[in-house]
Amino acid sequence: MLSYRHSFHAGNYADVLKHTVQSLIIESLKEKEKPFLYVDTHSGAGRYQLTSEHAEKTGEYLQGIARIWEQPDLPEELLPYMNIVRRMNDNGRLRYYPGSPLLAKQLLREDDSLVLSELHSTDFPLLRAEFSRDHRTKVSKEDGYQQLKSKLPPASRRGFILMDPSYELKSDYEAVVKGVEEGYKRFATGTYAIWYPVVLRQHIKRMIKQLEATGIRKILQIELAVRPDSDQRGMTASGMIVINPPWKLEQQMKNVLPWLHKTLVPEGTGHTLVEWIVPE
Ligand code: SAM
Repeated sequence: MLSYRHSFHAGNYADVLKHTVQSLIIESLKEKEKPFLYVDTHSGAGRYQLTSEHAEKTGEYLQGIARIWEQPDLPEELLPYMNIVRRMNDNGRLRYYPGSPLLAKQLLREDDSLVLSELHSTDFPLLRAEFSRDHRTKVSKEDGYQQLKSKLPPASRRGFILMDPSYELKSDYEAVVKGVEEGYKRFATGTYAIWYPVVLRQHIKRMIKQLEATGIRKILQIELAVRPDSDQRGMTASGMIVINPPWKLEQQMKNVLPWLHKTLVPEGTGHTLVEWIVPE
């Protein structure tokens, strides 16, 4: 049984990085008129209340979105993402936070489409309710990894697949690589983004080795660490591995990561990274 609930973590520093990358990829895809498919294999509930018991209990958003929210001048790379956060909190007080499906819902156009999957018995109905009137979206209580086999390639031959497991199951480190391989076999020109936490660096090193072994090219790694690697409990960094990133993404993240690091980690610990795991 799944016990992870994203409501405890929504808006933390890892979400800020993930949702920045997600929104920049979507904005790049929108530069061409032709519609595209957005697939969110691990969707979560879609919308989070930062004043909820769960969010207040961990207070993670206070070191995440709350620090960005307070800044008067945002780098332009953050605008697509932050405009949506602002719209959800239009009385000027930060209370709500959009999950990845809701960000996509707001950013996508009329002819684009969304496929969302979520397995948790509490979060799935919340997600379904959030999208009940959205004719572009198919929401299912199915295994997200299966969607990579059944929903690809998209009819439009354009697509962005976000894979954001909680890694509650250690098998997720391998499952994301297998998932990408399955997707890529069917749809080699799609953009795939895998979120990862750094809890034990060796898990990430292994995952990257497995990705390299697939033979897939154009794999970009983006990471923001708040502390040095450690063998103690807890996440010290998180990142996104992007396959077939839009050409601008590398430079956009190189521009914005130092600002994000300075703002999210005022104590200056940790690091940032934008590096090709496998170039073109
Ligand atoms: N992507 C969301 C966001 O950014 O707002 C957060 C997702 S959360 C990190 C991971 C979610 O995946 C959890 O809600 C969990 O219940 C769900 N989940 C876990 N295994 C899954 C699977 N095999 N298929 C679909 N959903 C799964």
